[in-house]
Amino acid sequence: MSWSITLGRIAGSEIRIHLTFFLLLLWIGIIHLQTDGVEGAIEAIAFICAVFACVALHELGHAIAAKRYGIKTPDITLLPIGGLARLERMPENPGQEIVIAVAGPMVNVVIAAILILVLGARFDAETFQTIENPAADFAARLAAVNIFLVLFNAIPAFPMDGGRVFRALLAMRLGRVNATRVAARTGQALAFGFGFLGLMAGNPILVFIAIFVYLAAGAEADDVEMTAVGRAMPVDDAMITSFETLSARDTVEAAADALIRTTQHEFPLVDGAGAPRGIITRNAIIEAMRTNAANAPALDWLVAIPSVHRGETLARAITAMREKAAPAVAVTDKDNRLLGYVTPENLSELMMVHTEKKPPSGGTSSVPQVKKREA
Ligand SMILES: [Zn+2]
Repeated sequence: MSWSITLGRIAGSEIRIHLTFFLLLLWIGIIHLQTDGVEGAIEAIAFICAVFACVALHELGHAIAAKRYGIKTPDITLLPIGGLARLERMPENPGQEIVIAVAGPMVNVVIAAILILVLGARFDAETFQTIENPAADFAARLAAVNIFLVLFNAIPAFPMDGGRVFRALLAMRLGRVNATRVAARTGQALAFGFGFLGLMAGNPILVFIAIFVYLAAGAEADDVEMTAVGRAMPVDDAMITSFETLSARDTVEAAADALIRTTQHEFPLVDGAGAPRGIITRNAIIEAMRTNAANAPALDWLVAIPSVHRGETLARAITAMREKAAPAVAVTDKDNRLLGYVTPENLSELMMVHTEKKPPSGGTSSVPQVKKREA
């Protein structure tokens, strides 16, 4: 369940509205109903819808720019905190990243220009103060919101647009991994600022944006680092090699026994020749036991997983796992026999070890040592 409603497709991207967006409309409606009556509430909701149409166009700006570089944007989701264009991948060329990042806010510049220059919306500094006042001119307020979106996105809070430009500029000098690390830390520091301002001003949206920026910055920095590590490492060095397998003859109960007996959370199932057929996850075993399927073949609960050959890069394995949204990826020898497997969990352990192995950089290296002593 994705918690989103699909509105339609534009330029190859599915436009979705997250269900929580309707909570925002409800909230806005209730607030304005109390102060401005029914008409005010309807006007306020119409205004929010117009704002989010501009947000959707902003995201389409990113999507259309990405398309120029052969990058698809499968979906664009509108959330109460703004829009999210899910690009298939981020371009690694800094110039391309800048074009894609700037294309979104440029759409808002164009919308504001049309509202002010073509439709004659009056705009000055005071308009910003009347954005939330339904009695003020609709077009002028919409122009103000679009200008606000441009200014807000210019803040270099990675992974917001300004932060992407910041990362790309840094990447030209520092390389992508270091640039992302610096940009993500800057983004997280700014997110603290947003969170503080949001709490002070009693603005829950800004607090949610802060949380989102903080988490997304960390996740994307980890991702870039993992890709860089994965390209330089053969999958053999990252795979789990000490594990138990199940066979096609095993029952769910045998799988449940294995779950208790070992520390494994998933069990590869191999055929008579040792070739991987898929994986049985802990959740599947629990679910099978819950539905009283203890004597059923474990095979019935098999999840297919992709496989790569030994000697291929870890990056290749990670891509295969992501593309299929699989819980693991199998590693096989030249005769297609299972040698090991990689899971997201063991990847995160790998990254922890890898980070610790690095020579100390700056003042943060002492922190893990303190933690170890406590443990
Ligand atoms: Zn944007």
